Amino acid sequence: MEEKGSISIHTENIFPIIKKFLYSDNEIFLRELVSNAVDAVQKIKRLAALGQYNGELGDPLVEVALDEEKKTITISDNGLGMTAEEIKKYINQVAFSGASEFVEKFKDAKDANEIIGKFGLGFYSAFMVADLVEIQTLSFQEGAEPAKWVCDGSTSYEISAGTRTTRGTDIILHINSESEEFLSKGKLNEILDKYGKFLPVPIKFGTETQSLPDGEDEEGKPKTKEVETDHIINTTAPLWTKAPADLSDQDYLDFYKQLYPFAEDPLFWIHLNVDYPFNLTGVLYFPKVKNDFDMQRNKIKLFSRQVFITDEVKDIVPEFLMLLHGVIDSPDIPLNVSRSFLQADSNVKKINSYITKKVADKLAELFNKDRKSYEEKWSDIGLFVKYGMVSEEKFYDKAKDFALLTNTKEENFTLDEYRDKVKDAQTDKNGQLVYIYTTEPAKQDSFIQAANKKGYDVLLMNSAIDTHFVSSLEHKLEKTALKRVDSSVASKLIETDEAVESVLTEEQSATVKSVFEKAIVKPGFTVEIVGLNPDEFPVTVTMDEFMRRMKEMAQMGG
Ligand code: ADP
Ligand code: MG
Repeated sequence: MEEKGSISIHTENIFPIIKKFLYSDNEIFLRELVSNAVDAVQKIKRLAALGQYNGELGDPLVEVALDEEKKTITISDNGLGMTAEEIKKYINQVAFSGASEFVEKFKDAKDANEIIGKFGLGFYSAFMVADLVEIQTLSFQEGAEPAKWVCDGSTSYEISAGTRTTRGTDIILHINSESEEFLSKGKLNEILDKYGKFLPVPIKFGTETQSLPDGEDEEGKPKTKEVETDHIINTTAPLWTKAPADLSDQDYLDFYKQLYPFAEDPLFWIHLNVDYPFNLTGVLYFPKVKNDFDMQRNKIKLFSRQVFITDEVKDIVPEFLMLLHGVIDSPDIPLNVSRSFLQADSNVKKINSYITKKVADKLAELFNKDRKSYEEKWSDIGLFVKYGMVSEEKFYDKAKDFALLTNTKEENFTLDEYRDKVKDAQTDKNGQLVYIYTTEPAKQDSFIQAANKKGYDVLLMNSAIDTHFVSSLEHKLEKTALKRVDSSVASKLIETDEAVESVLTEEQSATVKSVFEKAIVKPGFTVEIVGLNPDEFPVTVTMDEFMRRMKEMAQMGG
């Protein structure tokens, strides 16, 4: 049985285009071929379970082998194998249709980087690194003959009798001269570790020596012997695939260490598990944050059926939760399409709101169960919560019950508690509540003290997110204004009907005021003369809340 044929496509020659587009991310060939091998092993297991295969299953195994001399990388599996007919169907037609669709879609794209790796190119990604690809395979089907397929990167292929004697498939890549970097054990280890660390079937790559106990020597000391064993690169049942009831806190902490060896222990975690209306599992961790947004971003790893895909989870995880760590695994996230499509995808939207809800529920649970320990964590989680309240309407609605406001005395209040606390002392003559806050407690200390003496409470709003948090509170809270403590003298922070006492006459005040204005004041600031009111400084330079916010906006560029 020998047959030559031509792979039917419209595009003249697909391989140069595949190479050109995927060059900078060409390591994914290994991810694709190893996933195919894993699929083949899973499929034979399923056939056996269904009673459609009654032969010996053997231990499931995928093996990656490197031959530096022959310049080949071979990916072998003991999966279901293929007959010659199936090669024609699945490799020549199915796999190729994926590749040609890719080329059709992206041959004119300007920014190749944007699409690289997002498109499951599958089997044909082998041609990014190989100039000759060979398949040796033996199907599980009774009476099947081993088959061989060879393709040199042009559109013609050759099928002939193969040499495999056991069920399964070898994919042999003859690595091209530009891709010799992959002919290195270290490089392959690195790629396998990145994409395959949690694959569900053992992946063997070379061997390793282990020291095992071997009786005692003449003096009675324990002896060891060196044994060569398979080097298995993966854990086949990672934590997120297990039932939460079977896991201890230590298991979650150990897994976190495995993901981020250098990170401090996380604060707490959420085990995600949903199978309707979409499929998703995962574990999200709340890390200890150091008030540094950018450093912490993009730590969530995205998997599809235990194959690592990317740690760019933008568009899948709500923006404010990008600060979380952990893994998300979903076969329902479309990975092979462009960004704009992702944003419109309805599964992605549902996933997004599911995660938001889960996180809010977890925070509410922590708050209700143990408020004291929740308050202790607030300095870390407050950042997420505030960020979420500012950026997601739905999250604000849930978080308003467990978000905390902290005052300069380091007391914490929920939004409702705080309203009750200050409503008597801090309602102005129009019935509007005024919350007073400080952005720099050390610098604004004299103002804080003056406000406290007036019986006003001062909130701490000194973290990176607080400028936005203040505006969103003002937006959401009914009849409430927020004023920075130094936006006016204490006696004028909240307009009341009470007269402000001064020992100076109006004329004297005006004179003093003009002297100060000429000497020290910059545009936007105001000199306030309170006179010799014992609680306050006689002359205070302030900037009005409105003026200051305008100026800040101008500085931020709108
Ligand atoms: P996909 O994996 O998305 O189906 P691929 O291009 O990766 O697309 O593979 C195309 C098809 O080739 C697979 O669906 C499968 O039927 C077949 N195939 C690829 N590799 C193997 C293998 N190692 N064993 C058995 N069949 C395989
Ligand atoms: Mg595939």
